[in-house]
Amino acid sequence: MYKKVHLRLTVLCSGITAVIMVTMSLCYLYVSETGLYRNHFNSFKNHISTITANLEQQSVISMEWLSKMEAQGNYTFFVLDNGIPFLYNQVSKDADASQKTLLAESLEAYEHMGASQKEMNGKELSPYVSYHTEFEFSSSSSGEDYYSSVIHIEKNSSLLQIIVLSSLKTLKRQISHQRIRFLLIDLAAVVALSFFSWIFTGRLLKPIWENQQKQVQFVASASHELRTPLAVILSCVECCKNRDVKQQDKFLKIIKQESLRMSSLVNDMLLLSGSDNHRFSISKKPVELDTLLMNTYESFESLAREKSLSISMDLPENIPPLCPCDPDRIQQVISILLHNAVSYTPESGKINLSLSYRKSPLEKGSFFISVSDNGIGISDEDKKKIFDRFYRAEKSRTSKGHFGLGLSIAWEIVNAHQGSISVKDSETGGSLFTVVLPE
Ligand code: ADP
Repeated sequence: MYKKVHLRLTVLCSGITAVIMVTMSLCYLYVSETGLYRNHFNSFKNHISTITANLEQQSVISMEWLSKMEAQGNYTFFVLDNGIPFLYNQVSKDADASQKTLLAESLEAYEHMGASQKEMNGKELSPYVSYHTEFEFSSSSSGEDYYSSVIHIEKNSSLLQIIVLSSLKTLKRQISHQRIRFLLIDLAAVVALSFFSWIFTGRLLKPIWENQQKQVQFVASASHELRTPLAVILSCVECCKNRDVKQQDKFLKIIKQESLRMSSLVNDMLLLSGSDNHRFSISKKPVELDTLLMNTYESFESLAREKSLSISMDLPENIPPLCPCDPDRIQQVISILLHNAVSYTPESGKINLSLSYRKSPLEKGSFFISVSDNGIGISDEDKKKIFDRFYRAEKSRTSKGHFGLGLSIAWEIVNAHQGSISVKDSETGGSLFTVVLPE
């Protein structure tokens, strides 16, 4: 499921970006190619103007000069005198058939040009004034494209026609190389895009996936925890049948106990799900933490005595300032810690509850609430996990009434106060939990 969504998101992200990128590069290619064609055609036109001006100045057209121009501009020249192939060149004797066809094709293209186009390019159509007309044509015989110019020039009362052909082969090759370069760049960009999209969407989805896994884990653990008391209740109901009143009382007592256990578990789960949905509200007010600690301490004294545990409390000598917190929630946190200390400390153990307030000149003050014991302690491995929901260290799994939710609730409450909760080994060999609340 996760992989499918990851793949789909990657394809979507990279697909959209690739389409935008390819469209942009196609637009750029179009603009660049039309620019290249325009520049090439303009420079051809300018060169032809120069050639025409030179030809006008020559009293007799120098074939040598024409050859030089031909070589310089990589052109092909054909000269016609009153429409008849002239001295110069290929057309008369040396020319091969292909060149003759090329000339014919060029003249045909010229003939087919609209008069208005000729006028535009050639200024005037008078046979007695020099003019030249440039155009592009495709030769069907050679399969190539050419820029062609027909120069009309009057020499010694005869009309010379000089046809200049410039092959677009080099320009086309240049353009196709540019296209290939763009294609390769686009391909590389699409590959890089897909790679980064895969990484980014993976990072984006990771917290969602982790959250989903946590939810699944939470539901599985909750169902598991609820199954045990439910099974006990069902078996007690069965046992109640055909029993005397005394025995029925015994089973009813168990049913009540298990129902209370279930109710406490459901309450814990509701609190945690409220915190997940940001519906977990705390109402802060200035609280005398020492009084709050004293009250909680007193409520645990009898429980500790029942287990022959000695419980002590250390309060600061100077009265600490009022702490902005939700007193009920903070009392719940201290109760969770004290309850755990009582549960995981063997008989005749020691538990200590303490409060201190520290303030540095530059920073705001902090309240430190600590619960230490000399009980079974927590391994380093377990220390990393005990704040996870439904986590219980192996050695405490047997204790009833412990679902592994207490510390995760404490963590959520402290977190809602922008405080912190941590655990380390106590000096007496047990555990030391410290809650820090900001002033
Ligand atoms: P539980 O309801 O099981 O106590 P908690 O979330 O309060 O759940 O605690 C998680 C686990 O952390 C406990 O199962 C226990 O293994 C361990 N733990 C918590 N407090 C102590 C402690 N004071 N001494 C030893 N182990 C503790």
